[in-house]
Amino acid sequence: MKIKNLETFQLSAPLAIPFGWSQDTISSRSVGLVKITTDDGIVGWGEGCGGPSAAVVEDILAPLIVGEDPTNRLKLWQKMFHSLYNANLAVGYGGSAISAIDTALWDITGKILGLPIYDLLGGRIRNSVPVYATGLYYTEGEMPTRLLAEARGYVESGFIGMKTKIGGLKIEDDVNRVKAIRDEIGPDIKLMVDANQAYNVSSAIRIGQKLAHLDLVWFEEPVNAQDIDGYLSVKSSLPMAIAGGENLRTRYEFQQFLSRRAYDIVQPDIINVGGISEMRNVAMTANTMGIQVNPHVWGSPIMIAASLHVAATLPPCPPSGNPEPFVQETVMEYDRTPSAIRDDISPETFKLTNGRLQVPTGPGLGITVDEKAVRSLSS
Ligand code: MG
Repeated sequence: MKIKNLETFQLSAPLAIPFGWSQDTISSRSVGLVKITTDDGIVGWGEGCGGPSAAVVEDILAPLIVGEDPTNRLKLWQKMFHSLYNANLAVGYGGSAISAIDTALWDITGKILGLPIYDLLGGRIRNSVPVYATGLYYTEGEMPTRLLAEARGYVESGFIGMKTKIGGLKIEDDVNRVKAIRDEIGPDIKLMVDANQAYNVSSAIRIGQKLAHLDLVWFEEPVNAQDIDGYLSVKSSLPMAIAGGENLRTRYEFQQFLSRRAYDIVQPDIINVGGISEMRNVAMTANTMGIQVNPHVWGSPIMIAASLHVAATLPPCPPSGNPEPFVQETVMEYDRTPSAIRDDISPETFKLTNGRLQVPTGPGLGITVDEKAVRSLSS
């Protein structure tokens, strides 16, 4: 069996209410998908080729993989990586382009063998993965009613934790905003904050100290994503765990962060890090070093499913007979902000039960992608 052709899609869906984080405000959601078809007509889907990544997929990587055996995932991963490495393109959009193709190849391989991806990875450790709600972004006129109703809604839906943004307001205003959320959800629900790199070291420590009494599980991306020493300074100065890694590509970008233990919690993103192959490599390395892996997930059902398959195979960190989410057990991000892309291209795929998502059990990714919906959302 050989790879016959490859197609990319740029999906976009407008938002009724624009929302923002420290670096940006958006009025639409967007996702880049790749569809790979074999000469036998088997189709695999991958995600990660949004914007300029699509050009890397189409112009550089597609000619390398068309005609190849799609089940040779690791060989093709290396081939793609080395085609970009010497020009320093395996980072950034190049890493995302590899991610999209790699995930599609795992989807195809699973469909050929009739096995879900978690079985290709060695079998699952858990049938469902604990998730937390990502939402509580900045929206105009949110305080207090709309923001707190959103937080209450996550509790009522059964989420065991949720994450909000900081770094978009003055420090005092952000602290008051997080405090209002904590007061609303009570002490038993886990709460995390994400600055999206908004601070320098001293500002991150300053707001972290002011937030310390709110029992936050982690403070995500406090400083620039590449600032290892900044991470180490913040980490040694604050009581909550420090998390990051969603923007890094390949195990080579993670190497120093992991070996110097710059994170308490690492959050590789399957559409950035290099797909299922590299997610697994980074995750198992981190797990070996006692660094918790809580995957970053913000996209379509394709990346949600791909992330669930890998998360299903990760051992508790450290090994534990009774692992607890947020303590030893991996928890996965579950984006709850409005997204027609997430809701329409594979509807009814994921159901939250007791704060967990079931891992799809069908072959490959185990989800059905509605290509009509993909095309209707494509630009
Ligand atoms: Mg984040």
